[in-house]
Amino acid sequence: PSAAPHRRRVLLKLSGEVFGGGRVGIDTAVVRKFAEQIASTVGQAETSIVVGGGNFFRGAELSSAGLDRSRADYMGMLGTVMNSLALQDILEQSGVDTRVQSAIEMAQVAENYIPRRAIRHMEKDRVVIFGAGAGLPYFSTDTVAAQRALEIGADEVLVAKNGVDGVYTADPKVEPDAEMLTHLTYGEALHRDIRVMDQTAFSLCKDNNVTMRVFGMQGENNVARAILGEEIGTLVTA
Ligand code: UDP
Repeated sequence: PSAAPHRRRVLLKLSGEVFGGGRVGIDTAVVRKFAEQIASTVGQAETSIVVGGGNFFRGAELSSAGLDRSRADYMGMLGTVMNSLALQDILEQSGVDTRVQSAIEMAQVAENYIPRRAIRHMEKDRVVIFGAGAGLPYFSTDTVAAQRALEIGADEVLVAKNGVDGVYTADPKVEPDAEMLTHLTYGEALHRDIRVMDQTAFSLCKDNNVTMRVFGMQGENNVARAILGEEIGTLVTA
């Protein structure tokens, strides 16, 4: 029997910067704001989330400061798990069932990353939070967002940005005349070296033909609107 057409399924990328409210650590008031928006969409769409860790550690920075790169990257991945647990807690306070799946085994705090189980969770209206990146040094959570989106069959990658509401023709902080683009191709994003996501993430989405929407966190209810498929910010397509 053919299954009912599935609900819109999205993979939301939240960078560590978002969790920290611009500082080291976790700003629960900020996390609560977007958790409540996610909560308002449960039942209408299936959401999974890849969280960054830049509010704790970035491997490349620790490595410049003298640590071994791979070890520094593992520290970075552990930071993403802390963000995942904070998001899980605050989502559950908002009445959302959640599961954290970690790419690095840590049974006391998270399930292992099991893609088919992640899909089942979403079908049961649970929000799945992917922590620990890919579990691999030298990767970024941007790349992981694209990979997880592909593996769990997401319809779109949603990229919530702090401070900007989409992709601009130039850096709006430097060039006041810069205009926001409503549409962009991956080819253009790669060619113009647009840094809203890393190049590996753009390439993966390009090659596998999944769309990406880049939007501002700050706008009223923007996270919920993006999850539900409203056309805000910039759409990136193959
Ligand atoms: N990281 C990694 N492999 C991964 C994902 C993340 O090594 O698959 C490390 C890397 O050191 C990175 C850090 O975790 O700097 C935090 O992730 P990221 O910088 O992507 O977070 P964001 O910029 O989104 O806050």
